[in-house]
Amino acid sequence: MTDFSMTTDDQGVAVIAWDMPGRSMNVLNLDSLRDLDALVERALGDPEVKGIVVTSGKKDFAAGMDLAVIAAMKEGAGDDPARGVFEGVMSLHHALRRIERAGMDPKTHKGGKPVACALPGTALGIGYEIPLACHRIVAADNPRAKIGLPEIKVGIFPGAGGTTRLVRKLGAMGASSYLLEGKTLDPQAALAAGLIDEVVPADQLLSRAKEWVLSAVGTDLCKPWDRKDYKMPGGAPYHPAGYMTFVGASAMVNAKTWGAYPNAKALLSAVYEGALVPFDAALRIEARWFTHILMNPSSSAMIRSLFIDMQALGKGARRPAAPDQRVRRLGVIGAGMMGAGIAHVAAQAGIDVVLIDSAPEAAAKGKAHAEGLLSRAVARRKLSEEKKAETLARIAPTTDYAALSECDLIVEAVFEDPATKAEVMGRVLAHVGPDCILATNTSTLPIAELARAADRPDRFLGIHFFSPVDRMQLLEIIRGRDTGDLAVAKALDFAKAIGKTPIVVNDARFFYANRCIIPYLNEGVRMVAEGVKPALVENAARLLGMPVGPLQLLDEISLELALRIAEATRAALGDAYPDDDVDRVLFLLAADGRLGRKARAGFYAYDDKGERQGLWPDLARLFPPREPQPAVTEVQDRLMLSQVLEAVRALEEGVLTDIREGNVGAILGWGFAPWSGGPFSWLDIQGLPESVARAERLAAAHGPRFAPPRLLREMADRGETFQARFVPGAAQAA
Ligand code: NAD
Repeated sequence: MTDFSMTTDDQGVAVIAWDMPGRSMNVLNLDSLRDLDALVERALGDPEVKGIVVTSGKKDFAAGMDLAVIAAMKEGAGDDPARGVFEGVMSLHHALRRIERAGMDPKTHKGGKPVACALPGTALGIGYEIPLACHRIVAADNPRAKIGLPEIKVGIFPGAGGTTRLVRKLGAMGASSYLLEGKTLDPQAALAAGLIDEVVPADQLLSRAKEWVLSAVGTDLCKPWDRKDYKMPGGAPYHPAGYMTFVGASAMVNAKTWGAYPNAKALLSAVYEGALVPFDAALRIEARWFTHILMNPSSSAMIRSLFIDMQALGKGARRPAAPDQRVRRLGVIGAGMMGAGIAHVAAQAGIDVVLIDSAPEAAAKGKAHAEGLLSRAVARRKLSEEKKAETLARIAPTTDYAALSECDLIVEAVFEDPATKAEVMGRVLAHVGPDCILATNTSTLPIAELARAADRPDRFLGIHFFSPVDRMQLLEIIRGRDTGDLAVAKALDFAKAIGKTPIVVNDARFFYANRCIIPYLNEGVRMVAEGVKPALVENAARLLGMPVGPLQLLDEISLELALRIAEATRAALGDAYPDDDVDRVLFLLAADGRLGRKARAGFYAYDDKGERQGLWPDLARLFPPREPQPAVTEVQDRLMLSQVLEAVRALEEGVLTDIREGNVGAILGWGFAPWSGGPFSWLDIQGLPESVARAERLAAAHGPRFAPPRLLREMADRGETFQARFVPGAAQAA
């Protein structure tokens, strides 16, 4: 059975329907592309066929290219991989160009057959590049559908003509948010933006597409860019207006990516160079840049972490075998920032929630938080009033622990204080059944210790949400020493229900994410103490591809919290506490009331509305810049290795047990340089011997915190990579 099938009706319209057997969503692979091409060729050559409608047998059109196929293209491309990839990409172009030209005479543009694309729902990536090659795009009025080209987000760019066609359709400026940001739109918005031609009620989709095909005339078939008089909207690069666009676009890309993402730069090159030449040459240029990107280790690393591994974890790759543990009723204790957020995401997933706080007003405030978020979604047309009311009705705020009696999962999110947490757990236990799983959202307290307050260590674990709960994708599930498989399965089924990506880690100080982010923040602060210019620290971080520098991040999470964590760590480590230099800086700022963004004063200066106004100029007075300043690469190495070495230690110590979780958790948890695919992937890309050499240099200059862990050293000696050693059989990073 093939993915595409064709039927011709009595009016001579051939309907090519895409319907991958056994999958809920269509994705394109090279075999199915050949099927499509063969059917198009047959329809164009069949005198009985007057025109073609390409559509889907599923509720959506397509989610894109099978990214696993893209990631593997390089591996399967033989001795000359770049040539193999280029030829594979060109075969895509030929197939789509065949649809676009539809049998027309190359000179007169006559004799072609009209081809419409009917989109029942979502059409992303190649799922929108195919329609772009058709002569008319009709979409069903389905507000949930997403249309666009999100490739840029996984390290590539639209490489099946989407880049070249969209720029010629909308102009470079018009196309920029779709290409450079991967913005996707619902059908009505896509119509308004000029991405598609028509939106019709779902039940009229096919009939309207056929009607268009039967009424189309010759001029409807020839794309503007195939006509002699074609002018690019907004002007080509050599036109004065176009020139300004390209100068602006180039600056915009660099401002956003700091040069860390090779795909954004390659996209811009394909657009610029493609705009200077005729259409078919532009497609070849696009294919060359696309090949260049597929040959760069960043693209396969990003696809692997942000797509393949993330999807596998989301689907429960780490789930122990256990019967369905879907949550029926959730109890959340503590209706503060985190508890309210947890109640909101659970209710949105259709789970009934009992939301407890110590005072009725505090519990009600937690529900009001959910209401605020839902109202915002209604205002943005993402949610109906009915759905909002339905969701809110699932949250029952109360102070009465007896309301927890029917709950099968409890998440505690009260103050970060062991005594308060123990007291609350005692009250919970008086009311829940023996099978109820108990979880804590603690970010710093050891799970094993908290488990002592509960009478069921096998049913106790950490479910660590990140703030803000509705936006942060990661869920860190922490197995205590005695946590049983059933509890882990419960947490993973909960993660799946609320659409978060889970990682399962073992119990140790700061678990995984915070354990790695703290050395990054500390290294930034330590450099300030040493007289490294704060701007150099922040810019070095951005050049590494970190979304924010360490000083800005500290301002966001508040210096107060950082100091509280520092105090707890000092108490735990005693004389071995290594971060006095860091604390000195934090205390100095805190003593001045500079506690971060909330206080509108921190490492940065802020205006009355809390908008950042640049680094606080007096930092130079408190921490006079030393001369000479270190090289930017030295600062970068310190910031990067402080994170990746800690990730390796977490693996070595068994806190992490799967590097896929280490990679995905780092990107989703603290924004670790996504271009690299995560810390282990970053090490593989640099090469382990090179990473060890850099760590040794830093250790000699700055102390043992940079000493390469034994595991890293051993692997470097043996010529191993993390990907090959820990994920055997998976696509390689480099
Ligand atoms: P918060 O101060 O905003 O909320 C805590 C809530 O718990 C308050 O509403 C308070 O009234 C309530 N509470 C306190 N004692 C209680 C009791 N005895 N009974 C019932 N309710 C009680 O704090 P938060 O930021 O939401 O943090 C909650 C937990 O989540 C902490 O353990 C924290 O470490 C953890 N956490 C916080 C973040 C973050 O970024 N804020 C991130 C991850 C985890």
